[in-house]
Order: sequence, then C-alpha cells, then structure tokens
Amino acid sequence: PYCFAKNGIIDSSAAHIHPMDISLIRGYGIFDFFRTSNYVPLFLSDYLDRFIRSAAKTHLNLQFSKPELAEIIKELIQKNNLENGGIRMLLTGGVSENHFSPSDGQLFIFCEDLLFPSQEKYEKGVKLLSVEHVRAIADIKTTNYAYPVWLSTDWKAKSAEDVIYHFNEMISESSRSNIFIIKEGKISTPNQHILHGITRMRVLELAPETEIRPISFEELLSADEIFITSTTKKILPITLVDDHKIGTGQVGSITKKLMADFVEMEKMHTS
Ligand code: PLP
Repeated sequence: PYCFAKNGIIDSSAAHIHPMDISLIRGYGIFDFFRTSNYVPLFLSDYLDRFIRSAAKTHLNLQFSKPELAEIIKELIQKNNLENGGIRMLLTGGVSENHFSPSDGQLFIFCEDLLFPSQEKYEKGVKLLSVEHVRAIADIKTTNYAYPVWLSTDWKAKSAEDVIYHFNEMISESSRSNIFIIKEGKISTPNQHILHGITRMRVLELAPETEIRPISFEELLSADEIFITSTTKKILPITLVDDHKIGTGQVGSITKKLMADFVEMEKMHTS
C-alpha cells in the first residue's frame, strides 16, 4: 500500500518518524479518521474541516490547505484502489529542542482495512461499561488515547463493547463514539465534554428534533433506547449499561429506523 509521508506519496513500509517527535514522547499530535464507501471518501469535507480545526487549536502548523489535502486523498484512493477502507490523517507535534514545545510536525496519511462490528451486534445490541472520567480538551481529536487503551482490557473482560464516560453525574461520550438516548419517543444527545463526531452531526440531520443538552447518568439508565455513533460503528445499539438492561433489552424501533435512514444517506452520498 501507498501512504503520504512528509511531502509525497511513498510505499507505506518506507514511512518513518523521528523517535524524539513529541507525538511519541509526550503523546502530542492530532489525527482524524474517515472511510471510503464505493471509492467515495464519505463526508470528506467535514473531516477535513475538523482536522484543520484540531491543528489550529493545538498550535500545530498544518502546511497543507483543504484542497491540497483533498487532492492527496484522491490520489491515495486511486493508487490503493480503496473501495471500502479507512483513511487516517496524522499530524505529529514535531521535534523540538526542549522536547516539550510543539514545532513543525509531520503529516502522514495512511490507508487501512476497515473493521466493522459484527452483524449480530447490530441485531442484538452491545454493552457499555460506565467509567467516571472526563476528557481534557475533548473537542480536539488528539492522538492521546492512553486511558481508554488501558481500560480496554477491563471492558473486554466484562464482555462490554466500550465505555460510557460520566463525571459529576453527567454523561459525555464513549471512548471513540458519541451517544444518543431515547425516552418516550424523544431523542437526546449530550453537548459537553465531547468530540463533535461527524456521524453524530449526520444523525442530527436525520433527526433534527433531537435535544442537544446535558444528560445525567440516571437518565441514561432509564432510557428506552440507546445507541452510539462513530465512523467505524455507524449507529450501534446499546442494550446493557454495566448490568442494567436498557428498555426491553432489545434494539428499539427508533434506533432501527435511524440505522436504515443512515444506510440510505450513505448511498445517496456515494452513488
Ligand atoms: N468521540 C471520540 C472521543 C472519538 O474518538 C470519536 C471518533 O473517533 C467519536 C467521538 C466519533 O466521531 P466520528 O463520528 O467523527 O467518527
């Protein structure tokens, strides 16, 4: 496979990074991740906007414009014949004299295989493990996922798909997804301490009546339906939080309808 590294498209095996880059030694860098569907980079403009915004907020100098990034991505999709795959953009914090201050970082763009949850998970729903935590600089897509990587051993041991973060009794998001709850037909999603997910934004387009507001952990447990959204999970139903059954314990009708609507929306953008 080919990737973009530094200034050009090269064989992925030849890509390298300086060991003193603060991405490695301090966990300071940004990334974004999107996918192709039928060779089309789905919602590309939104992901590029978020990546550019993350760079600006972290004081990193992204030396490529939005049209330049789009051009590189188009070329990579062609060269890798990427019909249905993931694309990861990464901007490192760079190498600096004091090994702490950000400097000119390096841009990498990689193509990856996609790994979606199994059909069974979409049909039966999955479990989230609740964890008391609030993410720092939550709206920036930084490369620092040390805490959830560490947690993952525990959630897997407890047969959970992922976590739901809560703090001061209020919920925010899962480790790599946003969350929606449904109660008596009303859809709601939290608005604090979250990454503004592109999938979340598209679901809000499908269900514009959704209330965007603070949601308590108690409300989460008493919801009729819950689902999480992300680039690689799309809309994934949640039927258990810890050992607490959500609603009837089965995937609800509003979640099912939105899952179907999202499939249609994806088709519309890729054909
Ligand atoms: N929240 C966090 C912390 C994430 O890392 C992600 C995705 O990686 C999301 C939410 C979902 O965002 P998106 O729908 O853009 O994939």
